[in-house]
Amino acid sequence: MIKAVTGTKDILPSEINRWYYLENIVKEVFINFNYKEIRTPVFEETALFARGIGEETDIVSKEMYTFLDRSETSITLKPEMTAAVVRAYIEHSLGTLQPLNKLFYISPMFRQERPQAGRFRQFHQFGAEAIGSTSPLLDAEMIEMSYNIFKRLGLKDLVVKINSLGVPQSREEYKNKLREFLSDKKDMLTEESRKRFDKNILRIFDSKIESDQKIMKDAPLLIDYLDEESKNDFDTVKEYLTKVGIPFVVDSALVRGLDYYTKTTFEVISNKVGSQSALCGGGRYDLLIEELGGKPTPGVGFAAGMERILLACENENSFALSAPSIDVYLVKLQPGPETALSAGKLELELSRIASELRSNNISSDYDYIGRSMKAQMREANKLNAKYVLFIGGDEYSRGELLLKNLADGQQKTFSKDDINRIISEVRQ
Ligand code: AMP
Repeated sequence: MIKAVTGTKDILPSEINRWYYLENIVKEVFINFNYKEIRTPVFEETALFARGIGEETDIVSKEMYTFLDRSETSITLKPEMTAAVVRAYIEHSLGTLQPLNKLFYISPMFRQERPQAGRFRQFHQFGAEAIGSTSPLLDAEMIEMSYNIFKRLGLKDLVVKINSLGVPQSREEYKNKLREFLSDKKDMLTEESRKRFDKNILRIFDSKIESDQKIMKDAPLLIDYLDEESKNDFDTVKEYLTKVGIPFVVDSALVRGLDYYTKTTFEVISNKVGSQSALCGGGRYDLLIEELGGKPTPGVGFAAGMERILLACENENSFALSAPSIDVYLVKLQPGPETALSAGKLELELSRIASELRSNNISSDYDYIGRSMKAQMREANKLNAKYVLFIGGDEYSRGELLLKNLADGQQKTFSKDDINRIISEVRQ
C-alpha cells in the first residue's frame, strides 16, 4: 500500500475545523493591522533561496527539496516565504505603487528535516512582511500581531524573546570580540560549532549541546556592542511592547540563522509543545532586498508554524470549538397514509427543500444511502445539526413539515409550501 511520504501528513475532515478556526483568526488579525494577502508559487528557482536565505544556513545546505525540471532548471519547493515575497515585491515593483507594503501569507513549506514531534517535511506557516520602512514600530507590530493571534487562540504559556543584531558594521566588531573570546576555547567546542566558528560564528549560540552552551555562557554579548541607531530602535521596540502590555525577555543569544537579519529579532516560545518550542520567529532584514537585486529597501517580518500552534492549542485545551455542525438535517419518514406521493417522489421533494435551504445559505444535508429513520437521527446527532426537518408521515399528509430544535427539543410545524418561514426560524 502506498502511504503518505515520511514527514508529511493528511489534514483529515475531523481536524479541518481547527485549521479554519486558526486561519480565520490569522486573517482577522492581519487585516486589522492593514496587511494584504500575497500568494506566491509553491516552487521557485533554487538560486532565490540560496541567495535569499544564505548558502551556509541549515535550510539551504541540508534541507531543501531541490530538483531539475524537464528543462534542466533547478527548482526548489519553498522552504520559507520571505525570499519569495521579496522576489515578488521586486518583480512587480510593488515599492513604486506604494512606499510601504504590508503583506501577509498562509502557505505550505517544505524542508527535508528529520521528522519528529513538531517537525515535518511539509508544514504550514502564516506570516507577515512589511517592506519599505525602518520604523522600529513595525518590528514591534510583528511581535504584537503574533502575540494577538496566540492570545485570541487562548494560548497562555508563552514567552516572547527579543534581541537586536545591530547593523553589519557593529556586528563585525562584535564577531571579532567573539573570535577573540573563543580563540583559546575553540578546541573544546563540538565539531559542528567549530565549523560555525569559521562560517557563521554567531550561530554557535544556537547549539543545543550542553558543553557548547557552558562555554557560550560567558561569551561577550552582541547587545553590548550595538551601534547607536540599533540601540535606540531596540529601546523603542521595548518601550512599545511595555506600553501595549506584551511581556518579553531580552535574549542576547537569539541570533537566528540568516545573514541578512539586522537589528530586531524575536521568537515566541510555548512551554506546552515539547522540545520544538518556537511557535514563530522573525526579525528585520534591511539588507535582503538589495541582495536579491532590488533597490536598497528595509523590511521586517515573521513566520509562524501552524502545526505547532495547533498542538499548543490542543495541549493547553484552548479549543473552545464545537464539533463541525450544520444547520439542518432533513429526515425522511415513511409517506403517510393519505400522501399522494410515492417514496421516490417524497425523496425528490426532500432534496428540493434541501436545495432551497442551501440556496438561502442554510447548510443542510440528508441521507443518500437508504438508512432507517433511527439511523438518520443518529447521523443528525453525529453531525451536531442544529435542527432536524422531518418530511413524510402524518404531518406531510396534512401538508406540513415538522422542525425540531435539537438543542432544546422544541418542535414546530410549518406549511410545506412556506419554506421561507422555516428559513427565518433557523436563522434566529
Ligand atoms: P523559521 O522559518 O525556521 O524561522 O520557522 C518559523 C516557524 O515555523 C518555527 O517557529 C516553527 O513554528 C515553524 N517550523 C519551522 N520548521 C518547521 C518544521 N519542519 N515543521 C513544523 N514547523 C516548522
